[in-house]
Amino acid sequence: MDRRSFIKKSAALAVGLSLMSLPELASKAYAAIKWGKTRFRIKENDFWYAEQPTVRWATNRIIVHHTGTGTDRDMSAAEINRLHRDSFGWAGIGYHYVIRKDGTIERGRPWNTAGAHASGNNSDSVGICVAGNFNIGSPTNAQIKSLTNLLTALCGMYNLIPDEMGVIGHRDVNSTSCPGDMLYAMLPQVRKRVMKNMGLALPEDE
Ligand SMILES: [Zn+2]
Repeated sequence: MDRRSFIKKSAALAVGLSLMSLPELASKAYAAIKWGKTRFRIKENDFWYAEQPTVRWATNRIIVHHTGTGTDRDMSAAEINRLHRDSFGWAGIGYHYVIRKDGTIERGRPWNTAGAHASGNNSDSVGICVAGNFNIGSPTNAQIKSLTNLLTALCGMYNLIPDEMGVIGHRDVNSTSCPGDMLYAMLPQVRKRVMKNMGLALPEDE
């Protein structure tokens, strides 16, 4: 093969590899292990932190949030990162995942670190933020679908049962209206779908 076609081939290989990013491989691994229909992508972010987030040694719960902005609007992980780091003076974005209005799941704080999203509860929980204000609007179908997929994979990864102990709303642990009335009211249904995805649903629930 001449040099030109070698370069072309290498470039194609590099593109192929970057498409098979680590989280995709990981989610495929979950799917291959137990949850064959649950496949999704996570948009990676590599934010700059004012100080390095500490390692999280335990994961006992997943805490669901909304952004709670003045209007029910979309918000990127990058925008939240700037807000948390530059305005709030935290290390950086406090959530581990952000779910955009179109259902895109974005990486926030690295998966194995302690977050900054629920006071007194950060050392053993994962924080998922669904973009919007669900005291005045409702999550999109795409957001609920992505939330269900992400919870399915995370519950599998951390051996959590998606019940009222394993998957909770921010208001369950702190004095806040987060994640908004509409999303909070949808959590029982979301938990049920995650149970089903994990093969944990009881026959009478099918
Ligand atoms: Zn919250």
